[in-house]
Amino acid sequence: MLSTSESDPSISKPKAVRGSIFFLTDDPGSKSDPQDCYEYYEDGILVLRDDGHILDVGPSTQTKAKHKLLANEIADYSGRLVIPGFIDTHIHYPQAEIIAAYGEQLVHWLEKYAYPAESRFADRSYAQAVSRFFLHELLRNGTTTALIFGSVHKISIDALFSEAEKLNLRIIGGKVMMDRNAPENLLDTPETTNADNEALIATWHNKGRIQYAITPRFAITSSPAQLSVAARLYHARDDLYLHTHVAENLHEIALTQQLYPSAKSYLHVYDDFGLVGSRSLFAHGIHLTEDEFNLLAEKQAALSFCPTSNLFLGSGLFNFNKAYQKNILLGIGTDIGAGTSFSMFQTMNEAYKVVQLLRSTHQPIQSENEAHLTPFKAFYLTTLGAARALYLDNKLGSFQPGKEGDFIILNLEATPLLQFRMLHTQSLSERLFVLMMLADDRVVEAVYIMGRHCYGHGADASY
Ligand SMILES: [Zn+2]
Repeated sequence: MLSTSESDPSISKPKAVRGSIFFLTDDPGSKSDPQDCYEYYEDGILVLRDDGHILDVGPSTQTKAKHKLLANEIADYSGRLVIPGFIDTHIHYPQAEIIAAYGEQLVHWLEKYAYPAESRFADRSYAQAVSRFFLHELLRNGTTTALIFGSVHKISIDALFSEAEKLNLRIIGGKVMMDRNAPENLLDTPETTNADNEALIATWHNKGRIQYAITPRFAITSSPAQLSVAARLYHARDDLYLHTHVAENLHEIALTQQLYPSAKSYLHVYDDFGLVGSRSLFAHGIHLTEDEFNLLAEKQAALSFCPTSNLFLGSGLFNFNKAYQKNILLGIGTDIGAGTSFSMFQTMNEAYKVVQLLRSTHQPIQSENEAHLTPFKAFYLTTLGAARALYLDNKLGSFQPGKEGDFIILNLEATPLLQFRMLHTQSLSERLFVLMMLADDRVVEAVYIMGRHCYGHGADASY
């Protein structure tokens, strides 16, 4: 049981942070003993460089002495859990206003709710206001990096990046590409999307911590000419992302097959244009075939598992065990606004339940290890695993020296129920599992971005 003590919120950019420190160092599914895949210091210190990168991490007494740290240089969160910031691998910022919209499945949900909401992002001041709300909502939930869809409007992503730059967030985003099968006011063309994307890449890609993703919505709303433009942009340099949806819903898959009859499968539509490769990430993949899983593995492309969205829209159960068996790069996404929570805790909660359901509905699994979403795997998929899926594991996802200092402080006793339940836990694994079932934004006590306290009591006023 972790004891609580007063943290010292007076230092907005401390040299070090003290608390119970936990982070993954490898995929817990890859080793027989999960203890080989994480570091945990019950009383630890995380030391930061002046530029906000991680300098060191270790047991409190030794690390304090090694770096000659003075008490007033340490933000003291003794009794709290310190972990790397969460990474959300799939989310739509213009859909924040339609989270929890009743009654539809994918295609009709887009028509009834998502498209009308996205049409409002033609207005820059509106886009700016929602960007501010959205990014602060991510932070309040402990999410420090996300891969984000804008709307079709160039200014939607321009507004989002402007706000993210003020907060110094590492985010990846892109303007939606959509030139057919959507309302007229939300369509671009292969020519305008090419010009808009080139301008956004020139202005924003690698500016500070911002990176750009080529973002066709999905094959249904992009003509072959537009997917060709997407591929040219994606291959124009080797550090751009490709972000889209695949095989979410059976009706969507049937429509895609009608529109691209010569493609071997839905994922092959994208592959035929050269859109499946490093730094490409596909949301959902619920109904992927064996061939499509093999293609993702071969091309080292990534999937985002979005359980709250998949359940909310009735899309189906993501075959987590298959993705694990095939060694697919995998992250977890909230998929706001079809997803029902900004909280990665609540998203892990639903992911666990999807994997439980798979045990009774899919083929027998090869080993017990594959049969469960263990708490270590879940925290891996929302931190280091997500960083690997985004090819950012040299920068994010753990506290190895040299990485960027984005981390969160969790109060494991933030609610009466958590406090009571934690009294009856015996191990770190149990405490992490209770968190992924019962926690939400209330446990996120503080958020640090590049070593600077940017959310929570006593945060830097400039945020
Ligand atoms: Zn989505």
